[in-house]
Amino acid sequence: MGPIELNKRQVEILDIVKGNGPITGEQIAERLHLTRSTLRPDLAILTMAGFLDARPRVGYFYSGKKTSQAISDDIAQMIVKDFQSIPVVVQESMTVYDAICHMFLEDVGSLFVVDKNSILSGVLSRKDFLRTSIGNQDLNKMPVHMIMTRMPNITYCFKGDTLIDVAKKLMDRQIDSLPVVEERENGFEVIARITKTNITRAFLSLADDHDL
Ligand code: ADP
Repeated sequence: MGPIELNKRQVEILDIVKGNGPITGEQIAERLHLTRSTLRPDLAILTMAGFLDARPRVGYFYSGKKTSQAISDDIAQMIVKDFQSIPVVVQESMTVYDAICHMFLEDVGSLFVVDKNSILSGVLSRKDFLRTSIGNQDLNKMPVHMIMTRMPNITYCFKGDTLIDVAKKLMDRQIDSLPVVEERENGFEVIARITKTNITRAFLSLADDHDL
């Protein structure tokens, strides 16, 4: 069954059962100052939609199934810190050749470049390396700072940002990853990385939590 919108009374019933279940229809009705027969349609809907389970002579209990409101709350609470990965960072002076090897060895799709003070200065993606490789340059002589995407053009995020914010940035800028940064007096320090893979993992964990 798709998401259903519960009315105010149905939400009240869910709350009562959550806090007091198993509980009989009579007892729910009493708490709401209504008659059992007034409640019957609401109880039927909640049971059919899977929010409540009913057992004869025991009563109603909460099945754990969440409302669409609860699912959106869960999504809004997904933050970068809980899904981020370890960043792979290289120095500006590293050669393009060595950086390509590094990307393979570390099995990542992007590298972050830092200056001598460990402050974020650039990003390197697979396409940056491909573009450089099809030119006529000596990859062993060229430092990565010549080909990287550099500050202030880097899109970044903070560990407390929501995954929704990150997903929007990834789609708007058509990129695969963001550095997670902390502000320092001379710039940003890279503390983590968040990628489309992390977002996909978060998406799956949400599906898992809701038995989808
Ligand atoms: P790929 O090269 O595998 O398609 P991306 O789509 O992430 O990877 O990169 C596309 C371009 O965007 C590259 O030139 C890269 O340097 C740049 N880029 C990647 N990540 C960022 C970022 N967080 N901020 C700014 N530019 C980025």
